[in-house]
Amino acid sequence: MWKLTDEQQMIQKTVREWASAKLAPVAEKYEHEKVFPVHLYKEFAALGFPGIRYPEAIGGGGGGILDMCIWVKELAKVLPGFAISSSVACGLGAKMLSYGTPEQQQKYLLPTVEGEMIGAFGLTEPNAGSDATNLLTRAVLEGDEWVLNGSKTFITNGCIADYILVSARTDSSQKPGISIFIVPKDSPGMSAMPIDKNCWYSSDTALISFENCRIPADHLLGPLNQGLDLLTKNLNEGRVTFAAFCHGVAEGCFDGALAYVHQRQAFGKTLADFQNTQFKLAEMKMKLELSWTYIMRAAAEVGENPQAAMSASICKNWSAQISEEVAREARHLLGGYGCMNEYAVGRLTRDVFVSEVGEGTREINWRVIWKALN
Ligand SMILES: Cc1cc2nc3c(=O)[nH]c(=O)nc-3n(C[C@H](O)[C@H](O)[C@H](O)COP(=O)(O)OP(=O)(O)OC[C@H]3O[C@@H](n4cnc5c(N)ncnc54)[C@H](O)[C@@H]3O)c2cc1C
Repeated sequence: MWKLTDEQQMIQKTVREWASAKLAPVAEKYEHEKVFPVHLYKEFAALGFPGIRYPEAIGGGGGGILDMCIWVKELAKVLPGFAISSSVACGLGAKMLSYGTPEQQQKYLLPTVEGEMIGAFGLTEPNAGSDATNLLTRAVLEGDEWVLNGSKTFITNGCIADYILVSARTDSSQKPGISIFIVPKDSPGMSAMPIDKNCWYSSDTALISFENCRIPADHLLGPLNQGLDLLTKNLNEGRVTFAAFCHGVAEGCFDGALAYVHQRQAFGKTLADFQNTQFKLAEMKMKLELSWTYIMRAAAEVGENPQAAMSASICKNWSAQISEEVAREARHLLGGYGCMNEYAVGRLTRDVFVSEVGEGTREINWRVIWKALN
């Protein structure tokens, strides 16, 4: 369980080489332009990675959670914004389409697996984040159409997605009374506005509004009023994958700092000659090794039992925490250059703080761990 298989080592090598050749040279450009390069996602997708977690019967790779963790980690090392948009495009929310009708799977899941379509997942609302069941978006059936009203915020890929899986209240008389809908792009009454943020510049994040937005009746995903069950089915897997994302950002910072200390001179030596530098890098490496080992364990555990909530939450919180710690030390080792865009460490450290927010904030995951203890 603690060692990558030959196949997993191949995934790692392939993505590492692709990211180094294709992503690293343009990373700063897309961060500066604040654009998710869709064409690069399609190029990456052509290697077959979006389908890795889907069954072979529908054209996927039939791989495990760790297989997806590996590619997400490798992309996050180089460009976290690209990594997060890519993983949301085909994973996390999109996996809910596996519970769709054959027609829904044909129309939306297959092209997602093949990397032709980009997905998004709209749960968060301006007044409902951690407390997601407090949502105000409503869906009402009128004839052969669902009519949606409300808004979603912070939605990754919201402006560029081919479809958004949207949670909405369908029954106020029962709790939670929430259903999930597939809302295709350009649906009448839906609009998306980019949000100006201070992290993941190369990822698209949007505010989505629904004003009498009409979608066909058959775009309800899964059973009516059972949307929360659908959401929670993949929650733990999403947390482990996100942990791998956080880990990747930390590894990118570590690699950058390690290279830098061998090259930078001070007081007639390289920074690497100072014992303080050696101890810092040794401590950072120790944290990274423990984080990755736990990700491998949690991936195996959640793979066997998707309800293994405690492992998934420990995994997510630990990786998010060490990613901040490692990034802070890495930036410090670069001195003033840690604040410059010339070095990747500078921009990577900008992206670690959101790690504590994604896939349940630190406190929400602590709640899960506490619940599992009682
Ligand atoms: C860049 C970015 C991309 C995102 N992408 C998506 C996306 O694609 N789809 C989507 O649906 N959402 C997305 N989100 C939203 C994200 O999931 C939420 O931000 C997150 O769930 C927290 O919700 P909130 O921001 O409303 O904070 P709140 O829920 O208001 O929390 C604020 C603070 O209160 C704390 N808190 C809340 N409840 C408790 C409690 N019970 N006990 C102790 N402390 C508590 C939190 O831990 C946090 O520190 C994204 C967010 C960001 C920043």
